[in-house]
Amino acid sequence: MIFAEWKPLDELIDKLKIHRKVLLVGCATCVAECAAGGEKEVETLAPLLRMALKKQDHSIEIITATLEKQCEWEFVEQLAQQVAEVDAIMSIACGIGVQALAERFDPVVVYPGVNTSALTIREEAGLWAARCAACGDCILGETFGYCPVARCAKSLLNGPCGGTRKDGKCEVNEEVDCVWNLIVERADERGRLESLSKFKKAKDWSNSSHGGPKRVIREDLRQ
Ligand code: SF4
Ligand code: SF4
Repeated sequence: MIFAEWKPLDELIDKLKIHRKVLLVGCATCVAECAAGGEKEVETLAPLLRMALKKQDHSIEIITATLEKQCEWEFVEQLAQQVAEVDAIMSIACGIGVQALAERFDPVVVYPGVNTSALTIREEAGLWAARCAACGDCILGETFGYCPVARCAKSLLNGPCGGTRKDGKCEVNEEVDCVWNLIVERADERGRLESLSKFKKAKDWSNSSHGGPKRVIREDLRQ
């Protein structure tokens, strides 16, 4: 899922204090899963903002909404009536949702209420770990299901650096497994160690964000 977390309250207040009436919008998908931007978080954040703004003598009305998906136009459209009443929007969806609102409701200003940081999986309660960096050229089939792009601190593709700790942890962070240690262990378990000895040519990054702004076209889905 896309992981995001609240920006510091002071930063949010700083943005909102010049406004009269604001719509705070959540999204019931990824950001709800990571407890940053779902309905519950919208209804928690709104009173916090009201109280903090009141303390600073700013009288602002904050109304709320949570869309099923803030990155789909049909859901974004549901906000039209509420947006007509406000002079600013704060979105606590991921950066995609924020941009969708900014595009649809231009010229109303849209502020991000969260920082979007990674494509993750929840490893345990309260702990999410990056699993994919959307590199556009997936190599999981060659790395036994572990992603060295997202999970190696150096995104190494031809085996580990020289720093892997004796206990199999990464030299950069002792709390994180060296993903190359995991890859080698799984290859060994499957009797496929030899497949890792083949040198991989430089990866094609042109389909990643390094290739410039990305557009993905599926001709079969176009009218
Ligand atoms: S190889 Fe690329 S697409 Fe595949 S999981 Fe890793 S970052 Fe994501
Ligand atoms: S120790 Fe492993 S995960 Fe950490 S940087 Fe080196 S190869 Fe990558």
